[in-house]
Amino acid sequence: MKKSASGFPERGIEKGELFREISNNRKRDFGWRAGKMFGYVYYPGDETAETVDSVYRLYMHDNTLNPTAFSSLRKMENELVAMTGSLLHGGKNITGSVTTGGTESIFMAMKVARDWKRAGGQDIVPEVIVPLSVHPAFDKAAHFLGVKLVHVPLRNDYRADVDRMSSAINERTAMLVGSAPCFPYGVVDPVTEIAELAINNNLLCHVDACMGGFMLPFLEKPGHPVSPFDFRVKGVTSISADAHKFGYSSKGVSLILYRDPELRRLQFFITTEWPGGIYASSTIMGSKSGGPVAAAWATVKLRGLKGYVSVASEVMETTKKIQEGIRGIGGLEIAGKPEMSVFAVRSGKYNIYSIGDELAKRGWLTDRLQNPACIHMTVSMLQAGKENEFLNDLREVIAVVSRRKQGKLSDSLISSAVSGLSRILPERSFRGAMDFASRFIGSNGSGQSDSAAMYGITASVKNGKNVRQMVLSIYDKMYRLE
Ligand SMILES: *Cc1c(COP(=O)(O)O)cnc(C)c1O
Repeated sequence: MKKSASGFPERGIEKGELFREISNNRKRDFGWRAGKMFGYVYYPGDETAETVDSVYRLYMHDNTLNPTAFSSLRKMENELVAMTGSLLHGGKNITGSVTTGGTESIFMAMKVARDWKRAGGQDIVPEVIVPLSVHPAFDKAAHFLGVKLVHVPLRNDYRADVDRMSSAINERTAMLVGSAPCFPYGVVDPVTEIAELAINNNLLCHVDACMGGFMLPFLEKPGHPVSPFDFRVKGVTSISADAHKFGYSSKGVSLILYRDPELRRLQFFITTEWPGGIYASSTIMGSKSGGPVAAAWATVKLRGLKGYVSVASEVMETTKKIQEGIRGIGGLEIAGKPEMSVFAVRSGKYNIYSIGDELAKRGWLTDRLQNPACIHMTVSMLQAGKENEFLNDLREVIAVVSRRKQGKLSDSLISSAVSGLSRILPERSFRGAMDFASRFIGSNGSGQSDSAAMYGITASVKNGKNVRQMVLSIYDKMYRLE
């Protein structure tokens, strides 16, 4: 890569030079179009993309912050809320907002829960009870909002333990959360029971359908078994659903929906005292491009229910073939009963992280989970038709890994926390970061394989606090010019 610019450019460059620089920079990016990246990118296919991209371009300079100046964007937002509300079987009263992603949707649900609990003027730290598998966006929101998040261990089937959730309820509890499905295992929490518990204790109940909101309904339609999770379940008060995952729209669009319109009023922010005028905004963001909103709207309109159902069926077929292949290998098992195309693979026989490393060498990007150690796969349209290529590579990987003398697969905090690192960092930056970390921690990672480097680091990191310090240093390093 060309040396990075460090100062403000003295003068502008030519368009040709600009694109040469970009294509040079992009050489190190992951080539997701080959379909070997599980998750991160949900591509609608070239034909849809061509139309949607031009809709995006139409709106990319427009600003959703001003809903009166850009009324066509506001109409799109309201229609996206209504269309998704209807997909999730909400009645006419469903309200909501378009946000920039699952994290922002979850922030909104958490803010509403906090302010709802404090509505009586009580000066308390509201608590939200979540299963251990809930997405870290809840931890992040709790951290930012001054809410206490109470994590409850999972049942043996990796689903939320409702009895334990019940025991965690106290007078400060504001909301219970279930996922449909949770990211790590793709299992849907027992939403009906969680919502019933919420009703009995006069609590809010949020369902995080960021992953499943634009997938489970399309599986249910042609008759796949899907656990109840949406507004048909009595007691569910809000749902988050990401259009930019299985809605196949470009990044930057999610929905937060409320059953009771009164709840959404707690979400909006308004200040009347600013010299700049009365300022109101519906979500966290201020100025925001209309591009992603228009693109999401266009994608839903172009696809329609029928289009989404056929894509979902194809993705599910691919998933089933991959899962059958994995089960057929022996020594590998799928964790729990995943209900859609998101699942984890563990092994009592092989070092599952080594399998992940070897797959990466063959160009397949999987995530890593900890406690228990698993590799994680999200199958979307990009993987349709790739199942045999993947399974052939996996069998080869198993042959390689089983010939190798295995270090004992450790579930210890240290090694799992470090392997957790590889989950939050893209594979490539993880390797770079490991190289870097090995230098500053003082173990010799250079010249070793990625996993060897990783376990080298593992040995020198003594506890979770050190791991956190290490991640901080890695992030500090990554967000500087190289
Ligand atoms: C992706 C995801 C989120 C967070 O969404 P972002 O769009 O990455 O902010 C939350 N919950 C679940 C279950 C997810 O899969």
